[in-house]
Amino acid sequence: MKLILTALTCVAVLALSADAQDLGPAFRKVGDGIYVQSSREVNSTVGIVLTSEGVVLIDTGQTLVDSRQVAAALRTLTPLPVRFVINTEVHPDHTSGNFVFSPPAVVINHAGAADAMRKADNPGRFANAAPEVKAAADGYRLVTPHIEYHEKMTLQVGERTFELLRLRNAHSEADTAVWLPRERVLFSASVALPKSLNNVRPFVTIADMLAATRMLRALNPDIVVPGHGSPGTTRIFDDSETYYTLLVERVGAMVKAGQSRAQIEKELRMPEYGDWAYQDRMPTNIDAAYRAVTQK
Ligand SMILES: [Zn+2]
Repeated sequence: MKLILTALTCVAVLALSADAQDLGPAFRKVGDGIYVQSSREVNSTVGIVLTSEGVVLIDTGQTLVDSRQVAAALRTLTPLPVRFVINTEVHPDHTSGNFVFSPPAVVINHAGAADAMRKADNPGRFANAAPEVKAAADGYRLVTPHIEYHEKMTLQVGERTFELLRLRNAHSEADTAVWLPRERVLFSASVALPKSLNNVRPFVTIADMLAATRMLRALNPDIVVPGHGSPGTTRIFDDSETYYTLLVERVGAMVKAGQSRAQIEKELRMPEYGDWAYQDRMPTNIDAAYRAVTQK
């Protein structure tokens, strides 16, 4: 009898610790009961955190195909429901899939998220999407946050603590990093992306981006899961800071030499970062650096 029980316990433990391989190539295990889904290096990441009281998701997929893939993986990982979805920003490549998990999930992001999502929502965008995306969009509706916090919020789910930290003017109208202090895992949103230029929007400032990456680095996480790209370490923040510092320095020197904004955009080169993805975003980076230098 004792042997049978031991055998049954082993089966149960094995079932609970399904490793990322079983879930497919888009999944990685980054900690005990913590997984990350992303089907391409530049795609947005979905954080999957299992707790004794259910699942907490951090974002809901680059496309709705990813959202469905995460939903299928959850069925093999746990019988428990998704309790909360934390959005790290407002853009559709992080939030369109909210409807796949909510209800029952309660969606959370910083104040301003719902407004920005309503303004930008375009349900017609799926009409010309690839057939598999169109199929995955069946039943689509915009699900905006049920809870909008201010500056900081602590969420306790089962044995886990989630600290939600606002990143001000760092990427979108509402950006949230999620810190698991006991596990030392940080979901760092989209302020700094590994080996990738960012789309720096007109309301985002380099000073605020640097303030955000410094605050995140000071948490001293073991694992950093960026909003896009592979999980890594605080090196992601160091690289971003070095990049923006050099960019501001170069733009500053060109402004000082009397060059116009248009001339700078045409002539500025950052060859050290030529292998970073999304070189077409450089004009938005130069714009931010120009604003930083001229205070406009
Ligand atoms: Zn974004």
